Amino acid sequence: PAPPRPDFDAALQEIAARVQPLLGQGQVASYIPELAGVPRERFGMAIVGIGGEVWEVGHARERFSIQSISKLFALLKALQHEGDALWERVGREPSGTPFNSLVQLEHEGGKPRNPFINAGALAVTDVLCTRHVQPETALVELLRKLADNPGIDYSLRVAQSERRHSDRNAAMAHFMRSFGRLHNPVDRILDAYCSHCAIEMSCVDLARSMLLLANHGELPWSGERLLTPSLSKRLNALMLTCGTYDAAGDFAFRVGLPAKSGVGGGIVALIPNLCGICVWSPGLDANGNSLAGVAALEWLTTLTGRSIF
Ligand code: GLN
Repeated sequence: PAPPRPDFDAALQEIAARVQPLLGQGQVASYIPELAGVPRERFGMAIVGIGGEVWEVGHARERFSIQSISKLFALLKALQHEGDALWERVGREPSGTPFNSLVQLEHEGGKPRNPFINAGALAVTDVLCTRHVQPETALVELLRKLADNPGIDYSLRVAQSERRHSDRNAAMAHFMRSFGRLHNPVDRILDAYCSHCAIEMSCVDLARSMLLLANHGELPWSGERLLTPSLSKRLNALMLTCGTYDAAGDFAFRVGLPAKSGVGGGIVALIPNLCGICVWSPGLDANGNSLAGVAALEWLTTLTGRSIF
């Protein structure tokens, strides 16, 4: 018999009430000017079950800038192309440094620690620039498929806003290229990278996109296999160890789910064999993770008793 349907409705209502005092706190990512205007007190959360059920609360259908959550999907795409050869380009250890740090690169021959810090995502984007004439569209198309929503796109305004303020990512890319670790022109890589970060999706879209990884590499509604079970497992492991930057240890301790965050205030997560999850609230903590988002996920696993442990 099927396991009893979890009552996420009650949990989401309780979570929304509990995070209320946190809304409006934290900082928004003002180094991307176009993001600075997003109201900080917004909060939305969605859970999509493997069978297609949707539970939601708050602004769960409002689109926001997915930012570093795109790093997960860029990695997925690059792994589809390169397989294990990708690990010659990027490592898979937690960095213990902020997401936009350059320091380790000098000591490690320009090889980024993992694909979820900016340096690692630039190496992954370099692969996508080699493989695709239009790497921007390649990722948008993947997400349309994973979210089962043909309306998904990136915001040109947010992409250009970040691109005009990308000195730090540019420095990182030039530095890596000086080690012979990037093969495409830095401008090309940054254009694609900023467009990927500027993709806009709602919590419901993103929660549905996580079903692939909750379902061992197969889209549950069509049975289409996009990843081997082994690759799906590995992506989940990387999210657990590196998905929330230098807070990944604390996040695993408090929440106990594989997850990936972005400075737009979104965090995606999943419970294997059960559901995809996304929470969004723009106010960020010092590590660049959504303040209310982390709290909401911690409440979810605490209230429902469901986590990967
Ligand atoms: N676009 C952002 C950047 O490159 C993404 C960072 C993030 O979401 N942590 O700085």
